[in-house]
Amino acid sequence: MTANIIDGKLMAQELREQLAQKVAHLPTAPHLAVILVGNDEASIIYDRNKKKAAEAIGMKCTIHHLDENTTQEELLRLIQQLNADSSVNGIIVQMPLPRHLNSELMIESINHAKDVDGFGIYNIGLLHSNDSSAMVAATPQAVLYMLQQSLGDITGKHAVIIGRSNIVGRPLASLLLNHHCTVTIAHSKTVNLSKIAASADILVSACGVAKMVKGEWVKPGATVIDVGINRIDGKLCGDVDFDEAKEVAAYITPVPGGVGPMTVTMLLNNTLRAYIEQNSSLKK
Ligand code: NDP
Repeated sequence: MTANIIDGKLMAQELREQLAQKVAHLPTAPHLAVILVGNDEASIIYDRNKKKAAEAIGMKCTIHHLDENTTQEELLRLIQQLNADSSVNGIIVQMPLPRHLNSELMIESINHAKDVDGFGIYNIGLLHSNDSSAMVAATPQAVLYMLQQSLGDITGKHAVIIGRSNIVGRPLASLLLNHHCTVTIAHSKTVNLSKIAASADILVSACGVAKMVKGEWVKPGATVIDVGINRIDGKLCGDVDFDEAKEVAAYITPVPGGVGPMTVTMLLNNTLRAYIEQNSSLKK
């Protein structure tokens, strides 16, 4: 068996076209504000890509690129200014922040209606309470969208998620639970990980260990979603040994071209949603 490839790039392109059509009918452009502190190279590239993707669908994106030595007070002041600015619909603070800045404090300072990364405790609480008004983090939403597009209804499936971070593993576990999967969360202390993985109908890896998930970790006919972004000899690869797993799985995402492009798209989707909710007369 050779798995069907879940083409995240194509899915993202289709979804962005739909978003562009919706944005074209709005009275003003939804506005995403990105706060970037310092000169982390990967962060600069990520944020440039977000801006490019936002502008390509008719949204506005402003990157506030602050000096490495920005103080906590200065950063808080900017967040408060953006919270109060009614022309700004979404605010994200690019992680990692320089060590002298308190990331949790910055995230919690964002107005929850503008928390389009969904990292704040308020939105996490709503998600964990299965409240549909939660603003859900982009990567878990991307994974859910790809699963639904490929499998349709995922009710009753056993999902095993490798990774328990606050930005991927935990919110994804809640999201899949809310969609009636039976969810197992695995992590670095999990015993018999390969056996647990092999019991999954849906296997999601988000641990950041290159090619850790081997073919024998995959149940025949399972769906494998690879969130990991790693490099071997400078070449991008996921957490899954793609060549092995694709011979066993029914569906699989590649790296690159899988979850990554869908994540940016879901951030734009959240920004559009925030815009509509902040302009309540536009709600249907
Ligand atoms: P974190 O480092 O925050 O979390 C990694 C998780 O994986 C932890 O829960 C850790 O366990 C677990 N883990 C680490 N090693 C192992 C192992 N050998 N066996 C089982 N579990 C293990 O990472 P993130 O959640 O931020 O990101 C995970 C990966 O996803 C990274 O490669 C990142 O680059 C990628 N990523 C991709 C995105 C995309 O859009 N495609 C978006 C976000 C992240 P423990 O808790 O015990 O330490």
